[in-house]
Amino acid sequence: MAKAIVVGSGAGGCMAARELAACGLDVAVFEAGCAFRSFAWDMDRFEPLRQAGLFFDERMISLLFPQMRVVKAQDGLVHVAGRAVGGSTALATGNAVRYDRYLAELGIDLDAEFAELERMVPQTTAHRAGWSALTERLFRAFEDLGLDPQVTPKFMEDAARCTRCGMCVLGCKYGAKWTADNLIADVEGVRLVEGATVREVVVEDGRATGVVVRTGGKTELVAADVVVLAAGGLGTPVILEASGIPASPTLFVDPVLCVATRWEGAGLERQLPMPFVSEQSDYILSPYFDWLSFYFNKDWRMPHGDIVSLMIKMADASIGSYDGHRLDKPLVDSDWEVIARAVDQCHDIFEEVGVPREKTFFGTLNAGHPGGCFPLTEAEAETLHHDVLPDNLFIADASLFPRSMGNPPILTIMALAMKVARKCCERLGR
Ligand SMILES: Cc1cc2nc3c(=O)[nH]c(=O)nc-3n(C[C@H](O)[C@H](O)[C@H](O)COP(=O)(O)OP(=O)(O)OC[C@H]3O[C@@H](n4cnc5c(N)ncnc54)[C@H](O)[C@@H]3O)c2cc1C
Ligand code: SF4
Repeated sequence: MAKAIVVGSGAGGCMAARELAACGLDVAVFEAGCAFRSFAWDMDRFEPLRQAGLFFDERMISLLFPQMRVVKAQDGLVHVAGRAVGGSTALATGNAVRYDRYLAELGIDLDAEFAELERMVPQTTAHRAGWSALTERLFRAFEDLGLDPQVTPKFMEDAARCTRCGMCVLGCKYGAKWTADNLIADVEGVRLVEGATVREVVVEDGRATGVVVRTGGKTELVAADVVVLAAGGLGTPVILEASGIPASPTLFVDPVLCVATRWEGAGLERQLPMPFVSEQSDYILSPYFDWLSFYFNKDWRMPHGDIVSLMIKMADASIGSYDGHRLDKPLVDSDWEVIARAVDQCHDIFEEVGVPREKTFFGTLNAGHPGGCFPLTEAEAETLHHDVLPDNLFIADASLFPRSMGNPPILTIMALAMKVARKCCERLGR
């Protein structure tokens, strides 16, 4: 039986593994992280340390919570990703958004894949029934300003279990949120290997013959007939660079900036995050309690129940790179122009609910949607495969996206990964 190796067990990896197994391949998924465990510490224990300003570097999170990997760019932007089974979907706020317009512009039609995902992955907008009065008030303010807010569809495995604890980004303790590893649970033909870091793809005579993988202190070569890389927008380029295939310095990350205000008794942190979204050109706006800023930004040193914040998530310029150690992700003038427009709009929203702009403050610039280092063009629209890669080596993550979307990418990554896996099977004659 032909053997496939999939690297990474996030949105792209699990989707690709499932499809390859459906074509009859024997699939091993190598995942650098281990089984996901949601953040187990009692947050109240950290309050004295927070008040004393002892949380000063966001990279400290990875010590307490190794499933969250934090990397800082030289300009201070904080990049967050999941390193565990399920990848970043374990940390996601569960937004299930189709956003494939830039792929469609290249001639890539994902209609069939999205239709299949709708049947395969549980999504719901029924959470509105549980919104707080404040969330409803914000929704009306968005409406009154003509911002066309839409209730966010959420990936929910079992919506009835959602307690609205507000902690989606630290993992769901209640089994409510859907994560990508569900795609391969009990799928025949898929074997998940945890704690297995792939260093490089071995290429001989123009073909990928396997991967070099480090597991439990042992490094070995594992042979395969086909290799699919889905180690995420930061992980995949690093593996390819180590394999002698240079990545393009076109990294995007969808930067996030929150604009917040003090609001006694708001209780936003105990709501489902991002309950609704307003899509504007090059950014989205949504209510979001930013735990990263709460712990690490001195302007947020007040009780968590007394903060209201609005998230700006923007589409950034494709300029940047990551070599496994150093994240080079400068924001350029065009990025700052988008941010300035979005900040103005947040001020308008706050004014609509009675908060003057001088009473607002910012969160910490962060990001968690990396991609773009192997961007597809029209030339690859049919094959979804770059000529610089051996015939039997594929990418199935946001590295393929032609540009930043400034929108939640999980659903689109899965649709693309499904199609990539099918192309891969076609090449193998299946
Ligand atoms: C806090 C947060 C909230 C988010 N919320 C949303 C949301 O609500 N909706 C949405 O659509 N998107 C959201 N995103 C973004 C989304 O989660 C990611 O863009 C998406 O999951 C990426 O999928 P992926 O498969 O490409 O990579 P990932 O899910 O990041 O998976 C890559 C996997 O590869 C593993 N890996 C990396 N390198 C190696 C290696 N060398 N060897 C073996 N394994 C390796 C990693 O450990 C990881 O598990 C969020 C992101 C973050 C950080
Ligand atoms: S808000 Fe709901 S989905 Fe999110 S972590 Fe809490 S219980 Fe889970």
